[in-house]
Amino acid sequence: MLAGTPVILLREGTERAQGSEAQNEIIRAARAIADSVRSTLGPRGRDKMLVDSLGDVVITNDGATILKQMEIEHPAAKMLAEVAKAQDQECGDGTKTSVILTGELLHRAEELIAEKVHPTLIVRGYQIAAERALERLEAIARPVGPSDLELLRRIAMTSMISKGVGGYRVELADLAVRAVREVMDTRGTRPVFDRKNVQVVRRQGGDIRDTELIEGHIVEGAGVHSAMPKLVESAKIALFEAPLEVKKTEFNAEIRITESAQVESFLREEERMVQTMVEAIVRSGATVVFAEKGIDDLAAEHLARAGVLALRRVKRSDLELLARATGARLVARPVDIEPTDLGAAARVEERKIGDDRLTLITGCPHAKAVTILIRGGTTHVVEEVDRSLADAIMTVGTALEDGRVVTGAGAAAVELSQHLRDFAASVGGREQMAVEAFADALEIIPVTLAENAGMDTINTLIELRRLHKGGAMQAGVNVLEGTVSNMDEIAVEPIRVDRQILRGATETSTMLLRIDDVISAKRSPAPPTGPKGPGMSGEEFA
Ligand code: ADP
Ligand code: MG
Repeated sequence: MLAGTPVILLREGTERAQGSEAQNEIIRAARAIADSVRSTLGPRGRDKMLVDSLGDVVITNDGATILKQMEIEHPAAKMLAEVAKAQDQECGDGTKTSVILTGELLHRAEELIAEKVHPTLIVRGYQIAAERALERLEAIARPVGPSDLELLRRIAMTSMISKGVGGYRVELADLAVRAVREVMDTRGTRPVFDRKNVQVVRRQGGDIRDTELIEGHIVEGAGVHSAMPKLVESAKIALFEAPLEVKKTEFNAEIRITESAQVESFLREEERMVQTMVEAIVRSGATVVFAEKGIDDLAAEHLARAGVLALRRVKRSDLELLARATGARLVARPVDIEPTDLGAAARVEERKIGDDRLTLITGCPHAKAVTILIRGGTTHVVEEVDRSLADAIMTVGTALEDGRVVTGAGAAAVELSQHLRDFAASVGGREQMAVEAFADALEIIPVTLAENAGMDTINTLIELRRLHKGGAMQAGVNVLEGTVSNMDEIAVEPIRVDRQILRGATETSTMLLRIDDVISAKRSPAPPTGPKGPGMSGEEFA
């Protein structure tokens, strides 16, 4: 009677959880993560202080950062961190919402499982519901275009609402909108936004309000020689991948030099090679040089004498950016440079920020590229501004690419929830219960927003349901006022954020619901935690 009995051989020490035990554990772990994120959602969300194993501290409200830093161990919980990551990569916003919704979908599934609804049916029901919700989402979205400045600023502000940059949101939103509009491009008729064209440079010091938008690039560092020009107009730009130096003559290696005349001739030879190189550069017409590697003192001196501005140890990514923007080609050997290798820029100038010297390259013919120079009193502030701006830039870019936005603050969630409840009746059977559970789960979004604002969650939900039933599609939780009202001018999000939240949360929750067997390899033993002498056992300190 062995036929049909699965035989699975597991290595000694392997842990295994099966059936409902496995399921319960997965749901418990995933919900624990989702719950821990809840208090951070929305304009009244709190921050988390994260301390890593080296004692470094980050205070943030950014979902992706929180989940990345939590160093989650449980495999199911790790999947939730993945939802956040996918969300962050896809649209740079909505990370916490996607995690919270995933947790709530699992919570509702748990209740159905307790009522003996089979997980497979729940999975089916959830998928049907998600499809239907996505359709409805498209239907309730409204258009946005590059000239809708006020709406774009709203979108940027919505994405930054819970960040620790409160009082500066208006300024930062304006920067984000200007930056994105500057670099928006088209492929065919489709608007495209390439994040790479917005460079962000951070400099601690000054005030957040000194954060500025520069139409062009910033390269760290400045001319390698003090006699080099600080400003070059109508610049002809050369980019070198190789060092600008002659190979050092090694006096004590293969060649033995006995006479001082020979030493002289070697040095002259070196000098001659440098001259040849610099002459080639000058002959090409280059007035500014960016080198990925070093520039030795001799070469620097000759370049300075020729009136050429030269920077060394320029990052590869900056060289590539400059190549695109100025039309220059990366050249391997400096002596090979030709006029056709050069790029152009209206101005290249040195700029001092605090104690740092930076170089600004503006008026590039090819790329529509901009740089945001972030300032702020402390590194914590600069980092939070960076994260907030990154979200705002991505969100505005996404909105312009999609050309469609929806109302946040729980408005879209309630609208979808109600639509699904009406629809559920037509599904019938036990799957109907799953569609209804999905509808219930969506309400976690307004409920959490209200909860974090200290509002009465039950009354808020009743009011929201009533308004939406009456056709007020934009009614949401006005967190800052503590009321329920029309939010279409206060909380606006690109449709992609909500689309990805629905997809990500559905995919992850259904994937976890399908698991009925968790097989974990034996963990390698933890490293010893240091000497424990007699009388130093843990209990005594407890
Ligand atoms: P996430 O990581 O999911 O983006 P946030 O903390 O940024 O989390 O909160 C986003 C939620 O806050 C969204 O549901 C959004 O619609 C909502 N929201 C944004 N601005 C407001 C506002 N002024 N009033 C109420 N809700 C808002
Ligand atoms: Mg957000």
